[in-house]
Amino acid sequence: MRSLVLVGHGSHVNSLAARGLYRVAEELRRQGAFSEVIECFWKEEPSLRQTMRVTGSTDVTVVPFFLSEGYFTDTVIPRELGLGHQGPVPPEGIARVLGGKTVRYLPPYGTFPGIRDVVVACALDALQDQPPSDVALVLLGHPSARRGGNLERHAQDIAETQPFAAVQVLYLDEALKSGEWLADVHAARAVVVPFFSDQAEPPVTSALGLQPHSPVTVARPVGTHPGVADMIARYVQTVIQDGFSGDADRVSLAAWTELMRQAKRGLRLGEALITPQGTLFEVRHALDEGRASTELTTFVTVEGLRDAVRVDDSGAHRPVRTFRTLPRRWRAVFSEDDLPRAIHALYPAVVEESYACGCHTLRSTPWPTTARRQTGAYARIQKATPAQAEEVARRVCSGCLRSRLWVGEPLLQTVLTGVPGGIPCAEACTYLIAEVRDHLSD
Ligand code: SF4
Repeated sequence: MRSLVLVGHGSHVNSLAARGLYRVAEELRRQGAFSEVIECFWKEEPSLRQTMRVTGSTDVTVVPFFLSEGYFTDTVIPRELGLGHQGPVPPEGIARVLGGKTVRYLPPYGTFPGIRDVVVACALDALQDQPPSDVALVLLGHPSARRGGNLERHAQDIAETQPFAAVQVLYLDEALKSGEWLADVHAARAVVVPFFSDQAEPPVTSALGLQPHSPVTVARPVGTHPGVADMIARYVQTVIQDGFSGDADRVSLAAWTELMRQAKRGLRLGEALITPQGTLFEVRHALDEGRASTELTTFVTVEGLRDAVRVDDSGAHRPVRTFRTLPRRWRAVFSEDDLPRAIHALYPAVVEESYACGCHTLRSTPWPTTARRQTGAYARIQKATPAQAEEVARRVCSGCLRSRLWVGEPLLQTVLTGVPGGIPCAEACTYLIAEVRDHLSD
């Protein structure tokens, strides 16, 4: 068994921030090269800190869903995963054994050599029938991508192997709005390939100051090309070759076996109700119990359910899925095989953490330890006292189903022992950390 984890930034406010990663993860699952493909985030759930608990095999490969190396890939992700590593990651990645799992941490997917083929495919798709030999390919990167010369390496390789008139690198900058950068393009026409994971806001055309009849074609962002998933799968397989292949993780298996045993009898889980219906299972908001199915929107895919529950009834993003804001008026129907993934989409990590809590193996992290870990824009959190954190947590956590083990709240029963709201919180989530930081700035 092999688990592939894609790690993204996510957002506390924007539900669209994760769509690029979800799209690629869905394609990787469809291809079936890995036993499971799990999405984890810095600012959403499942969080980086939950990664090892939500992976179902003992062989885990982690790919940062970032296009360039930087603070997140060098510092934040390895730190939150507990890899004991800081700094650039070699092409073959670094390997560690964590809690009985072999974990390989790879560089960001934007540094994989195969991304060059994806860049070229984006450019050729945009050019349609125009011969590339008349056109300069301009690779457009965010300023944060400057470090390490990643784009320059890709550009040089493309220039040596592809028939474009020129291949140049441009970094997004206020000055580009004037459109004067066009004077430095080494061809009469250009195709700009945004080296971005998703569509940019504001659009690239306005960021580059392009006029309606400019000799510039803008291609789709690299991360949105359908070839990205295949490129990631091929690179991961090259790196791991015939290396270690794991078994089912014993604890994860036991947790899900227990959940399924209870689901077959009918189960309240958080704000949701799971009801067996013949060979299928229906999931809906518990407050919609008894409501006619015709009054509810029905989902039959995990992705449909996931997208529905990522926002509340007002359309606001739910970065923490255990917030007591599960939207109403939907039902979702799954087979026994799909139910675990559906529950994971509804309440990521809840089954694994509740099971571990019941076994007294869920270690909580007190606030001072969490605060000390923070760096970068969150460094000032290190100065936040438990009393200041508590002041903010009283407001934020009162809207969450979880019980804060990290301040010593008792949790004697969990969702797996018949208490629907019995969900442990092992350490402060990044949403709370961000709120504490904002509180300190007030
Ligand atoms: Fe919920 Fe608070 Fe825990 Fe965040 S820190 S998951 S808001 S209980």
